[in-house]
Amino acid sequence: MKAIIKDKPERGASWREVEIPKPGPKDVLIRVKVGAICGSDVHIFEWDPWAQSVVPGLPQILGHEFAGEVVEVGKEVHYLKPGDHVAGETHIPCDNCYFCLTGQRHICIGMKVYGVHSQGIFSEYTTVPEPCAVKIPQEIPFVAAAMMEPCGVAVHGLSKGVVSGKSLAIFGCGPIGLFGVQAAVAYGAAKVYAIDISENRLEMARSFGAIRVFNAAKDPLEKIILEDTGGIGVDMVLEVSGNQKAYDQGLRILRKAGTFVIIGVASKPIQLEIPTNIMYKEAKIFGITGREMYETWYQVSGLIQSGKVNLAKVVSHQLPPEKLEEGFKVAKEAQHGKVAFIFG
Ligand SMILES: [Zn+2]
Ligand SMILES: [Zn+2]
Repeated sequence: MKAIIKDKPERGASWREVEIPKPGPKDVLIRVKVGAICGSDVHIFEWDPWAQSVVPGLPQILGHEFAGEVVEVGKEVHYLKPGDHVAGETHIPCDNCYFCLTGQRHICIGMKVYGVHSQGIFSEYTTVPEPCAVKIPQEIPFVAAAMMEPCGVAVHGLSKGVVSGKSLAIFGCGPIGLFGVQAAVAYGAAKVYAIDISENRLEMARSFGAIRVFNAAKDPLEKIILEDTGGIGVDMVLEVSGNQKAYDQGLRILRKAGTFVIIGVASKPIQLEIPTNIMYKEAKIFGITGREMYETWYQVSGLIQSGKVNLAKVVSHQLPPEKLEEGFKVAKEAQHGKVAFIFG
């Protein structure tokens, strides 16, 4: 089979021949259909300091977001069978720690992520432990199924507050922000404001039902959103940008006792104006990582099947894996939706 592999400790990767992996007793072997580029894949492709600190060794196959079909199962796999369609749950929990044992596997103390801490899935075949292959209804197309993992992050974030009939501001309209717009609209949010610096991404947010979109580089969004919410501010903010300015603006337009959800990874320490923007406001602040296993999966599956979200529309580029240079370039530019490789 072929795979997108990083061989050398430098920028780049190659699409080359490797051996098909053998599933262990608790693993499933999957024919990968679609794999999508996530921000962490771009870091590993670019081989930045973060990538150098987390990747255990080379060569390593890149990628962690995927969907495919089960072709073989290990002896101790009891639930999945060949022919099942699955989407990848990136978290590999230990199933023994305090958090795993108390129903919080997604924050497992020994969490591993395939494609980061172990071999990834940008390949024609892959093996993952059974809990990391989530069975999905056959009628969900593979391109949409590969989006269930990142969409789940947005849906997990929205679960921290009431959305129906409420106003939301979403800072950052990369794929997760765009899934947030789709899901918030599907949940019946009264108003979704979307903020980014890419006009192209803002146009996508608008097409998904954002009532107003703002270019953070030039639009007076605080003034307009405060006026539009009767001077009170929005009920909920999703912070998906990791940007200091978004924290400042987001907390200022958050209404008192509103919910502020942190999803974006900030590359630098963020400063918060605590007394006015958080304490006197009685703001509720939540951090989010990944998806709940598996509550979020049922929610995303339900949203897709209801027809109220269309995850494939967030995919702006579908490329053959040979075009990996182009794919990683587009993902790094942060001007478009998701980039997906079609493996079969
Ligand atoms: Zn990811
Ligand atoms: Zn654990």
